[in-house]
Amino acid sequence: AGPASDPASLLARRDAVFADVQEHYFAEPPVMVRGWREHLVDADGRVYLDTLNNVTSIGHAHPRLVEAITRQWSLLNTNSRFHYPAVVEFSERLAALLPEPLDTVFLVNSGSEAVDLALRLGQAWSGRTDVLALQEAYHGWTYLSDAVSTSVADNPAALETRPDWVHTLPAPNALRGRHRGPDAGRYAKEAVAEIDRLAGGGAAPGAFIAETLFGNGGGVALPDGYLEAVYAAVRAHGGIAIADEVQVGYGRLGEWFWGFEQQGVVPDVVTVAKAMGNGHPLGAVITTREIAERYRAGGYFFSSAGGSPVSSVVGLTVLDVIRDEQLQENAHDVGGYLKERLEALGHRHPIIGAVHGWGFYLGPELVRDPATWEPATAETAAVCARLRDLGVIAQPTGDHQNILKIKPPMCFSRESADALVAALDRVLTTGW
Ligand code: PMP
Repeated sequence: AGPASDPASLLARRDAVFADVQEHYFAEPPVMVRGWREHLVDADGRVYLDTLNNVTSIGHAHPRLVEAITRQWSLLNTNSRFHYPAVVEFSERLAALLPEPLDTVFLVNSGSEAVDLALRLGQAWSGRTDVLALQEAYHGWTYLSDAVSTSVADNPAALETRPDWVHTLPAPNALRGRHRGPDAGRYAKEAVAEIDRLAGGGAAPGAFIAETLFGNGGGVALPDGYLEAVYAAVRAHGGIAIADEVQVGYGRLGEWFWGFEQQGVVPDVVTVAKAMGNGHPLGAVITTREIAERYRAGGYFFSSAGGSPVSSVVGLTVLDVIRDEQLQENAHDVGGYLKERLEALGHRHPIIGAVHGWGFYLGPELVRDPATWEPATAETAAVCARLRDLGVIAQPTGDHQNILKIKPPMCFSRESADALVAALDRVLTTGW
């Protein structure tokens, strides 16, 4: 079998014990043994720049988090039916991050669970199971969160195999979709017409779920006014609006803590996970008291580890670090700088058709021809493989797998931004 850290033998053992559906990055993945800030280190001591780990929001192996979690584990860990300060403090801190009337918090362990609960809140609120979701979206793998996941990159049959209570709207992409540039406002009009049509047929959505910036789609912005129009139409028929902030929320966008702020809306339910735990399993649903109470009438909620003392301390410490190290400001400053530099790279390498996103959620989109917008799918995979040779971890995303998802730990430095741009420039100049 070879030594424990030999990449090939470890991969063979992994393949033997994992199901096929459990994928791994890279055909011949390095064996990762530690992380530090926005860096990963493999078993040979090779250091990689990590542009991928948005879950690790405050950076790998953050000493303050290590200390806090170790201390709390040594004192107490139990479930939230017991009474202790950390779960109250953390829930208050979360609620305070959201506008009125979002003041009621459920703590869970993952984004999938948060989305599942959010959809069930919608069912309880409206008394209906019909849900409206966007195409090209990913919301999780539990039964309900998978039902509203429509990305064909994750599941090629996604659109044909949704349950009949899931209705979808086209991804309102103003660059490559049906309505482009100034015509992108038509997406909202068509969405409203579709909601009215569904309602007319007795299938008014009880909930609408969408990311507030197309994270899974590569950081593509929704057209201005899109969520405002869709939220209003859904509410007019008695449904609720769910903002899935699992991927893009929590300060990463720089200018806004939440993606829905960019759209100028206030949702009825917000789902959060990933960044809030820095890799510790932590998720949350924040909603209004009224919605939570209607769920109480027919629903059940208990999570053995959600909101545990350890999870709550992790959540509080991550928020403290984001504040004290000014990581949202760093996402704004370094992310803005990185976006400018990637755009400048696009002037020299026409394969970069656009750079989507804001802050530390950026998506350079690779196209074969900027006129036709033909996706450079194979090229994107090859670019990622070459970047890895140069010590940069990056991966493709989007339904065409032609967008680099640049969503690093929020401590990503200007030097790291320069290193990423230099490596990408080298790959695009020397070929892949
Ligand atoms: N919603 C969105 C937008 C996501 O990107 C993800 C995970 N990629 C989820 C929900 C599910 O989160 P988790 O993997 O924590 O279950």
